[in-house]
Amino acid sequence: MTSVLKEIRKQVADLHAELPRNELVVWTAGNVSARVPGEDLLVIKPSGVRYAEITPENMVVCDLDGNLVEGELSPSSDTAAHAYVYKHMPEVGGVVHTHSTYATAWSARGEAIPCVLTMIADEFGGEIPVGPFALIGDDSIGRGIVETLRGHRSPAVLMRNHGVFTIGRDAKAAVKAAVMCEDVARTVHISRQIGEPVPIDRADIDALYARYQNVYGQEPAK
Ligand SMILES: [Zn+2]
Repeated sequence: MTSVLKEIRKQVADLHAELPRNELVVWTAGNVSARVPGEDLLVIKPSGVRYAEITPENMVVCDLDGNLVEGELSPSSDTAAHAYVYKHMPEVGGVVHTHSTYATAWSARGEAIPCVLTMIADEFGGEIPVGPFALIGDDSIGRGIVETLRGHRSPAVLMRNHGVFTIGRDAKAAVKAAVMCEDVARTVHISRQIGEPVPIDRADIDALYARYQNVYGQEPAK
């Protein structure tokens, strides 16, 4: 247990570097978490710590109700939302939250990102959906994420007037979804400036999604 937890702490700390590297965050506003395999626990960023100061040691461990179990600092203010997702979606091993600019601009309009690029079909299997408006402080953000993503192919949801939450089988997959969500949000936005993007046929979306997910599905924990 201790060595697994040590590994997860390192993984979550390392993955936080991808957020500023991919220009998904400003200041401290974005976080990555991972489920501790076999335990009702998650590892997440502490609240208010800048990305350059993140280390495996200052990551915090919480239970799936968002209560602090281990750590010196208080957990991210988004911990309740992450915890709710792990509690209600047992297949999820990683969660990421950002306010990345283009994807959040779509969320401000309450508009789903349409499936108009093969990359969207590959990674998201259709449009990237919008979740409900929800206030921080109880489980309403978590509930909105789960209700939108449960039974949906997309690993990303645009929470209305707020930002992006992504899920994955592990934290790395959730970070990848967050990076790709911002990238396609930007491309489709730019496409919209010069015309109307052309939708992809449902059958082609299905074929692209099946191929991509199978190719990548054979490699464990990439
Ligand atoms: Zn937020």
